[in-house]
Amino acid sequence: MKILVTGGAGFIGSHLCEKLLAQNNEVVCLDNLFTGSKKNIAHLFDNKNFALVEHDVERSYEFAVDQIYNLACPAAPVWYQKDPVKTVRTSVLGAISALELAKKRRCRVLQASTSEVYGDPQVHPQAETYNGNVNPIGPRACYDEGKRCAETLFFDYHRECGVDIRVVRIFNTYGPRMAEHDGRVVSNFIVQALRGQDITIYGRGEQTRSFCYVDDLVDGLIAMMDQDGDFVGPVNLGNPAEFTIKELAAKIIQLTGATARIVYEQLPTDDPKQRKPEISLAQEKLHWQPTTQLKEGLLRTIDYFKQKLH
Ligand code: NAD
Ligand code: UDP
Repeated sequence: MKILVTGGAGFIGSHLCEKLLAQNNEVVCLDNLFTGSKKNIAHLFDNKNFALVEHDVERSYEFAVDQIYNLACPAAPVWYQKDPVKTVRTSVLGAISALELAKKRRCRVLQASTSEVYGDPQVHPQAETYNGNVNPIGPRACYDEGKRCAETLFFDYHRECGVDIRVVRIFNTYGPRMAEHDGRVVSNFIVQALRGQDITIYGRGEQTRSFCYVDDLVDGLIAMMDQDGDFVGPVNLGNPAEFTIKELAAKIIQLTGATARIVYEQLPTDDPKQRKPEISLAQEKLHWQPTTQLKEGLLRTIDYFKQKLH
């Protein structure tokens, strides 16, 4: 198949491109290189089945493809809050660009949505039936509401125009090729530990997250795209093993053998207090569940950053 991956030069996108190529597909990676990097996909440039197109998804595009994975969007709070209006435009206009091409080509399109649609959840763990608790005017809203509107567009194009959609809600994912300055917790803590810098815990570190290793996540994306029933989602993809941020810091200090000390900084506004995916729908419909334990995934990510930082 010929497959388009928007945001393919980013962290998750680069792993997805790699896996799709390994399955003998042709891959077009569309990216404006805002948070992504050519370095993430440099090893794919020699593959004749791979092409990078530098383009902003705000503007329409046209490719003769059989599937579209729509991943283009900055995902780290520091980056999506740099230019909030642009983040909304990327999510909303980017969804329309992908859906219009899918409508024209009559091809399937998958949206990379997020656990952020649940906001600061009052229901725990989060199942797909929960409608969330998002502050529409806070600093995270550009991302959360942008992604919520993208889901709305996907379902409206599906109902109104018969577009063949798939929607996944991705929970915190980590692994090699996270950007060093990305600001997300796993990369921050590992980079700080390896450099002997202070480990910055925001708030008291009692907030929780559930971390999914990138290879598991990519398998889930492909399973959802390729399942041929009438199940369009939304479906949660994540690892339900839940940790406090303090526990994560302790694990990373232990695994890196760092002597770094922990410092406590201000908790960002609207930072969700707890997050854990309910994944029984993915297990039932996709026969998917993550298999990489946090320790194993962290060791692989630490190895990556050790090579990158030296
Ligand atoms: P990332 O920032 O590494 O990748 C995003 C990619 O999109 C980058 O390559 C960036 O350059 C590109 N991009 C951004 N704006 C664009 C635009 N206007 N036009 C074209 N390209 C653009 O982030 P990631 O972690 O790989 O996330 C990929 C997708 O998965 C995002 O849609 C994100 O919202 C979603 N997601 C990720 C996580 C996670 O934990 N990593 C969790 C939930 C959802
Ligand atoms: N966090 C932290 N120190 C950091 C970066 C993040 O304590 O250096 C916290 C952050 O406040 C949040 C959690 O770790 O509670 C996860 O943050 P991240 O930005 O990785 O993802 P998100 O908040 O989008 O889940």
